[in-house]
Amino acid sequence: MTITAPPAAQTRRARRDLFPSRPIPAAETALAELTISRSNGLAPMVGERTTLPGLVLTPHVTGEVLRYTGNWILTHARSGRRVSPAASFLHTREAVVWLENRGVDWDRPTADILADPAASSAFEELDFAMYCAQDAGRPLVYARTSWVDWPPLWRVHHRGGVSDEGFDTFEAAADVAWSACRFPGDEPGMYPSSVIRRDEQSPGWALRCASIACTDRDSFYVDAWDGDRPAVDSRAVLERMAWDSGWRGHGHGHWTCPNCTRQYPTRGA
Ligand SMILES: [Zn+2]
Repeated sequence: MTITAPPAAQTRRARRDLFPSRPIPAAETALAELTISRSNGLAPMVGERTTLPGLVLTPHVTGEVLRYTGNWILTHARSGRRVSPAASFLHTREAVVWLENRGVDWDRPTADILADPAASSAFEELDFAMYCAQDAGRPLVYARTSWVDWPPLWRVHHRGGVSDEGFDTFEAAADVAWSACRFPGDEPGMYPSSVIRRDEQSPGWALRCASIACTDRDSFYVDAWDGDRPAVDSRAVLERMAWDSGWRGHGHGHWTCPNCTRQYPTRGA
């Protein structure tokens, strides 16, 4: 067997790409160096800037020889002190959202923050709120409630008959009707004299993941049989189907999808 070495960097640019020596401009990275403060001294760290000036997201470290634990914390960049308890990455991202609502200015010297009662109560209450969220294996904050009352659908009517298929928009129904006009007989139940009307009743409910990690587009529960359209049904039916698919309910109309649920481990599990 012959092992061939990769071709050596022949040009100046290739060598530069292989062995960069210039720091990435600050505008092109959210990472910043800092020094964390622990009871036995100081240690180097790299943190990711957050939407809260003064606070950075850092890996959680502990042990007689400091090592990563796999959890994350929010750290006060100037002092290197911990602001949020050790938690999963998603829980720590949620801690940022939780603190955004407290209106505390963290971009201040340590002495100012320690003397600020609003900062101390935010620190203590976040600690307790995170403990409760971790204990229950649920999000610390929710992006939304999960139940969506689906708007009435558009259907094609013809001589007293109504299409089984409903459409979310008039345009979607019109596309099919337009095709039926051009190619009569291709679309069952569609005729040039058909009329598109909107139902008066909602077809039911849809279920969305309540986590901040789920964006609008992919946050709905989808039944595999329906392709990529959100499943719409009664709440009882959706709850049963979603639960069987790994979704979990957290009370007060909040559900999380399987991907997010995995990031909310129950304490001790
Ligand atoms: Zn989700």
